[in-house]
Amino acid sequence: RVVWMNQVHGPDVAVVDGPWGSDDEIPAVDAVVTARRGLALAVLTADCTPVLLADPVAKVAAAAHAGRPGMLAGVVPAAVGAMVKLGADPARIVARTGPAVCGRCYEVPEAMRAEVAAIEPAAYAGTSWGTPAVDVTAGVHAQLERLGVRDREQSPVCTLESGDHFSYRRDRTTGRLAGYVWLD
Ligand SMILES: [Zn+2]
Repeated sequence: RVVWMNQVHGPDVAVVDGPWGSDDEIPAVDAVVTARRGLALAVLTADCTPVLLADPVAKVAAAAHAGRPGMLAGVVPAAVGAMVKLGADPARIVARTGPAVCGRCYEVPEAMRAEVAAIEPAAYAGTSWGTPAVDVTAGVHAQLERLGVRDREQSPVCTLESGDHFSYRRDRTTGRLAGYVWLD
């Protein structure tokens, strides 16, 4: 039993207690939250940051899709907020971010880096070849830190550099990595 999202790079969250009835019902959200055990929440990515969250005491889990626009729009704080409404405590939340394009590879125009850094300074980065870049995963972790989520780990894998991972920026036409989180 898997809950999918129609990901649109926005800040909206859906609280779910079962799979969607049909593909037509899949809402345009970038985070899903559940307190239902045995229900897997799925996020699909190819360079964007997959964010998996769980409070193992309150038994609340969330999956979020955080690309540059979604991170800036606050999809991760929105997911944490929805978890808190269901009884989660940020101090207990376990957060894992999966493979994503890294801050040394995600090249952007100078003006875009400035726009991003004005909202999330932690996302300011530079490529390994000396041009402006954005580190979306660093932005996500800074947001989680400010919310009091301390138990965090980040995948060391850069999707663009890894031949074993899908990368939209590298290949354009490509598959997606699925990240899942569920409550036992
Ligand atoms: Zn990289």
